[in-house]
Amino acid sequence: MNPSEWFTEQVPGAESAFSLKIKRKLHEEQSPFQFIEIYETETFGNLMVIDGCTMVSTRDNFFYHEMMSHPVLFTHPNPKNVWIIGGGDCGTLKEVLKHPGVEHVVQIDIDERVTRLAEIYFPELCESNDDPRAELKFIDGIKWVKDAAPGSVDIIIVDSTDPIGPAEGLFGAEFYRDCFNCLSDTGIVIQQSESALYHLKLMGEMRSAMQGAGFDHLQTVFFPQCIYPSGWWSATMASKADLGHFREMDAAKKGFETVYYNIDIHRAALAQPEFFKRAFA
Ligand code: SAM
Repeated sequence: MNPSEWFTEQVPGAESAFSLKIKRKLHEEQSPFQFIEIYETETFGNLMVIDGCTMVSTRDNFFYHEMMSHPVLFTHPNPKNVWIIGGGDCGTLKEVLKHPGVEHVVQIDIDERVTRLAEIYFPELCESNDDPRAELKFIDGIKWVKDAAPGSVDIIIVDSTDPIGPAEGLFGAEFYRDCFNCLSDTGIVIQQSESALYHLKLMGEMRSAMQGAGFDHLQTVFFPQCIYPSGWWSATMASKADLGHFREMDAAKKGFETVYYNIDIHRAALAQPEFFKRAFA
């Protein structure tokens, strides 16, 4: 394998790697927060990499963006106000805005450069950015949540990078306490929670921190994501209220197109593997 023809992300600890054959590097820059690269690949379209970690590809981003959005939106009884912490590629924003009942979405990414590059290299993800319900802010999501008024939001989607650099605090107990305070009584936070195969310890710490913040109800959803370590990803919902009310009827007649998400996928994503149940019984 000629390294100049392949992008490879190595996973320390798991001692494994994922590679994509590249046609060329389209862009690279050091933003004030992180090192961002964009590649044109042979078979996955464009690929964004931040600090050496794959973020989003043209070909497979729909798994992640749909599963970060629709399960939580069809679990909350009546979501009107949504915040996306991170998510600068705007793919999650696009999915959230497909819900006609949503009145206001604020995307809070620390790094404006991620969004500006997504506009150039992933225009299909940014096509709803001008929706009048959407507001884009470029500030630290940790501070945004800390400063927010109590009970002011229905859903917080934490679409962040891995827990290193500027995203480290997004996985901490203090952040979850701040989320708890600014969520309404039926509010739900959902956070990308890495791979259950590779990152079970991190998932355990995240769950403890969420429970410590007062969230009595947790539910992890599982889905494929081939460009992320192990190819099998997850997101964890935490709520003050029972999470057992998937609005199946509304999801069945959702009235918008998805590539992956439907009610069967939603039900299947709720199934908890045996080793996961044992770990967090
Ligand atoms: N889907 C990706 C994944 O799981 O690897 C995440 C993609 S999204 C591009 C991640 C975003 O989180 C980046 O744009 C980064 O700037 C943003 N981010 C990291 N730390 C942040 C913070 N403290 N506040 C707001 N955004 C943050």
